[in-house]
Amino acid sequence: MAKSLNIIILGPQGCGKGTQAELIAKKFKLFPLSMGDMLRQEIKKKTALGKKIEKIVNTGGLVDPKITDDILLKVSKSKKAKHGMILDGYPRSIEQWSFLKENFKIDAAIEITLSEKESVKRMASRRICSKCGHTYNLASRKPKKTGVCDIDGGKLIQREDDTPKRIKDRLKTYHLRTEPLKNEYKKMGILYTINGQRPIETIHKEIFKILGKLSK
Ligand code: AMP
Repeated sequence: MAKSLNIIILGPQGCGKGTQAELIAKKFKLFPLSMGDMLRQEIKKKTALGKKIEKIVNTGGLVDPKITDDILLKVSKSKKAKHGMILDGYPRSIEQWSFLKENFKIDAAIEITLSEKESVKRMASRRICSKCGHTYNLASRKPKKTGVCDIDGGKLIQREDDTPKRIKDRLKTYHLRTEPLKNEYKKMGILYTINGQRPIETIHKEIFKILGKLSK
């Protein structure tokens, strides 16, 4: 029986961590927690909390850690997370990291690197399904039919925060608040750095090799 795993995946916007998180989740039966997706779901509900979150997301800043910590706790208690979680977009600050390590055992932090130029380019051609949230890229992962999701036929849209100005703001937040966490992971001996400038297939093979060893 494989060990349960809690994995962090980090990297600048556009590095492909969402795609890799989905593949890792399937292979190791982990729950894929995308904090950005969870927050967008709350925004869609148009609740008071959703409106508060929307204001911050629109500036490329980070929402109150109490909100994200609560989401994490709720998800971790669900049956789907019984084999562990792959955390995409969490932790994004030192406060969130402190909370995470106090409450969970973390087995690995996978960092996917990408240059700023490539990051901005990839994000500008990203499209998501308005129904299921599946991600496409007009340059590298095109849908079969223009503007339509392959999975459920939903309309493909550009995320409001995927405009060049907002991408730059989000990258700034990443470098300032999230990237320094790498030092914490390094100290703990759990950091694995992967070059994200290569095909999806090559990257996930490399990640599977690392996680395969940890899960035994
Ligand atoms: P993402 O989909 O990961 O690019 O996240 C979109 C936006 O959601 C970010 O730019 C933040 O405003 C917000 N967000 C996502 N994850 C977190 C987090 N862990 N802490 C605070 N804000 C977050």
